Amino acid sequence: MTTKKPSRRVVKKKKTLSAASLAAANAGARSTMVHGQTSTKAWEFSRHLIPPITSNTTFRLGSLDRGAQGFMQFGADDVDRLDPILIYDRLDEPNTLLLEEQLALLEGSEAATTFGSGMGAISGALLSVLKSGQRIVAHRNLYGCSYSLLSEWLPRFGIESTFIDVNSREHRQLLNDTNVRVLYFECVSNPSLDLADIPAIMSEVRKINRTRSESDRIIVIVDNTFATPWGLRPLEWGIDLVIHSLTKNIGGFGTEMGGAVMGSRRFERGLKLARKDFGAILSPKSAWGINVYGIPTLAMRFEQQQKNAIAVARFLEKHPKVESVLYPGLKSYGKFNLAKKLLKTPEGNFAPGTMISFTIKGDMGRCRKFVDHVAKNSYSITLAVSLGLTKTLIEVPGYMTHAAIPKDKLAASGIDPRLVRLSLGVENADDIIADLDAAFRAL
Ligand SMILES: *Cc1c(COP(=O)(O)O)cnc(C)c1O
Repeated sequence: MTTKKPSRRVVKKKKTLSAASLAAANAGARSTMVHGQTSTKAWEFSRHLIPPITSNTTFRLGSLDRGAQGFMQFGADDVDRLDPILIYDRLDEPNTLLLEEQLALLEGSEAATTFGSGMGAISGALLSVLKSGQRIVAHRNLYGCSYSLLSEWLPRFGIESTFIDVNSREHRQLLNDTNVRVLYFECVSNPSLDLADIPAIMSEVRKINRTRSESDRIIVIVDNTFATPWGLRPLEWGIDLVIHSLTKNIGGFGTEMGGAVMGSRRFERGLKLARKDFGAILSPKSAWGINVYGIPTLAMRFEQQQKNAIAVARFLEKHPKVESVLYPGLKSYGKFNLAKKLLKTPEGNFAPGTMISFTIKGDMGRCRKFVDHVAKNSYSITLAVSLGLTKTLIEVPGYMTHAAIPKDKLAASGIDPRLVRLSLGVENADDIIADLDAAFRAL
């Protein structure tokens, strides 16, 4: 890693920014993640170093008029997002407001809306912008539950999806269909690590959108869980809404579930109303944990995990029993130049990420033998789903996280059933490699 000076987004003093907000806006991203805003209207806790946890479902409203005003203002555009009349936890509450403020800083967005899980965030985002008769065009390789949401559930409400290779110019012709309202993909896909060519995609979408009215415009929604905001900030490339499963790298410790949608304020009202009525809210205790432990340590965890990923990818690439390795940090990665362009930390360093997928030479039996050996004998690697945590995890997507995709559709989704997915933790790379090496020797 280079020791470049941290990038600083120098913000000119505006009347609307307090001294504390101004300091946060001018600090480098790494420091902003540790300190956030030093004061906030979301909650008065100026004598605490760490914000307290609230455990409370309903709020004193004081008068009928104030209560009525709170309901009237909920989600309205002209109300201070951080200083709403608090009514009931399913609408807004302090710990999630604090986390949302911090997520918006992290992602460089006007607004952030949290949900109870990544899937809560994905369904909330899609349902807040789509109606019956409109279509989704989505990348063919998606997280298993996202695939089943699009292919099984949304069609029941008249919202159909077409799955394409989002990097194929020819496939993208489908976006010209005026019923297409949403383009959906994962910036780095789970589990095939396909990197979306965001600049090329967005230049076409902009061209199409110039010919459409606001209500027919294509809204581009991406799931950036794999790259994390430390590795890629899609809003800078013109994406409309960015989704994260907070359960993964942002939460980071495997203790909390959560999801979030970031973007401009014009989407916020719809997101909050969808969250209120579908009910996928984040628990204040989870919001607190993600805010206090997750975000401040994201950069440092990510960098140690990525260091391990680079070492493990190089080990796998040279191993005679390995058939293929997918990792954006390897020169053999199909889109290495695009990876260098898109995957960057806010400090300007290359950020190929913390995830590797690979296949072992031979049939499914050998894959099973390898993974079972790891599950039974490894110290540093655990057979478990989820990813982006401090502990290294291994799984076989075709049989686990992506089991919702029918076996006969796996190939069309770009998933080899023998694909093994590794999520690197913060251990010492030598120990992870020793565990993998032992499993290879046992084959
Ligand atoms: C895990 C995951 C999700 C779902 O998040 P949950 O918090 O488990 O609901 C969505 N997208 C991707 C890419 C994921 O890896």
